[in-house]
Amino acid sequence: MAARRKLIAGNWKMNCLRAEGLALVGELSRRLESAKDPVFDMLVCPPATLVAPVADALKGGKLAVGGQDCHAKEKGAHTGDVSAPMLKDLGCTAVIVGHSERRQDHGETDAVVKAKATAVHVAHMTAIICVGETEAERDAGKAEDVVAGQLRGSIPQGSSAANTVIAYEPVWAIGTGRTPTNDDIAAMHAMIRRTLDGLVAHPESVRILYGGSVKPSNAVEIMALADVDGALVGGASLKADDFWAIAESC
Ligand code: PEP
Repeated sequence: MAARRKLIAGNWKMNCLRAEGLALVGELSRRLESAKDPVFDMLVCPPATLVAPVADALKGGKLAVGGQDCHAKEKGAHTGDVSAPMLKDLGCTAVIVGHSERRQDHGETDAVVKAKATAVHVAHMTAIICVGETEAERDAGKAEDVVAGQLRGSIPQGSSAANTVIAYEPVWAIGTGRTPTNDDIAAMHAMIRRTLDGLVAHPESVRILYGGSVKPSNAVEIMALADVDGALVGGASLKADDFWAIAESC
């Protein structure tokens, strides 16, 4: 099996106006282009309003651009939504689907997430499928069952390492400064890889990211864990120095 290359993905959420976003990717791209043989891939997922200018600024470079969400349909009467082909058209190579903020704020079920991931695949992009338990579910000893259920419900047929990345993001760790123990992260990632067997082709090749309060001070130890193939980073992806330091922890 070829070694899995780490992926460091930034989820900007609903942050950044144009000047700020362009300055951020300008700095990251400058560092990435001058890095000698980086051992990671880097992706930024700006809000929908900034996908076009960011993608234009990064055209032909190493820093990839993704969407934070898309509609499951290709087009139609869905006011305010953005489709996977529209994101592809702007230069996106990946789309986050099933982020817990979408599951919570917009009532997205596993079935909805699966339909969105399918749309991403049909548009020839990578679906970054997010899963993760709430604090109550972890306290009740149900974290692994919840995550396994989300995987079974959210991963479409035809998924493979070429079109799918899994992001394990415990809901209670997102934006809180709290993280699971290293043992808990490693155990969950191992369980995810076992569960992928039967759901995706060549599960050993699929990248599994950890997300939830990743920062420069904890990235080295988290990135070194078995089956952790990178990070999905929220808050710390908005500062070039922090995001770059996380990438350099790989
Ligand atoms: C996220 O939004 O996916 C995330 C992991 O956020 P943060 O890094 O801020 O916890």
